[in-house]
Amino acid sequence: MNEALEMFKDLQVLARGVYLQIVFAVKLLDDAIIRSNEPEEVLTFRYEKLGNRFIIPWRKFKGKLRRLVMEKQRFLGISTDCALKDNLCMRCPCCLLFGGTGETSSAKTSYNLLSRVLGETLISLGNMNDVSTYTANAVSEEDLTTGQALMSILKVPVETEFVGVLTLRDPTPELAAIVCDNLNRLTRLGASTREWGKCEIDILGYQLIDRENLSTYALAQLPLDKIKKEVNPLSDLKLLDNVDRCYREVNEQIMRILPAQKAKSK
Ligand SMILES: [Zn+2]
Repeated sequence: MNEALEMFKDLQVLARGVYLQIVFAVKLLDDAIIRSNEPEEVLTFRYEKLGNRFIIPWRKFKGKLRRLVMEKQRFLGISTDCALKDNLCMRCPCCLLFGGTGETSSAKTSYNLLSRVLGETLISLGNMNDVSTYTANAVSEEDLTTGQALMSILKVPVETEFVGVLTLRDPTPELAAIVCDNLNRLTRLGASTREWGKCEIDILGYQLIDRENLSTYALAQLPLDKIKKEVNPLSDLKLLDNVDRCYREVNEQIMRILPAQKAKSK
């Protein structure tokens, strides 16, 4: 094993081979909804070794997280027009973290930004043994019939827990603080989230290491208390507590690494 690594003090374009892996649990505080007729945020999957599990595709989770980072930086007056999907500004903390394609962005930059946030499928802990379905249309008050079924809905039961691993490439204290703060701001999953899918995220710990060492696939085979033993407690990371200032810092720093003519055009 290497000596203990540290986060970087500055941003650079080229990767420097340090990975901050943040392990977190997502616990449903209410049922989450899977609708049969929509591209889902929560799905069921059968693994050869793990058996039947609920899963959350990273693409969906990342989309939620990115929107949260964006709304917060808009609140702070940073790149207030930057928006998914075709309106990326290519020069804000959020674009730096989650990446973007210059050509398809409204900024039409000649450069792309590689995502510094890497993820993987979130997997439920323990086997999926309690799945209930119901149909979604209203019951007529007169005769209590439901008439034509519109769609079937699958409920992921309250208290289902998922394990997730978010990996931050070339972490700086500011980027780590932004990521962890927004993990804690994610409070809903699944479909129909105005009514359903309330959840809470508990960051279990981290590893700062020269490779991606942890995976949800391996961790999902362990109970929660054992997962915690695989990581260092988050308090050891000494996260910066002024997250607003972190956004502003990163917003300054990013200008120094963007191609010169692009930064000038601001
Ligand atoms: Zn942006």
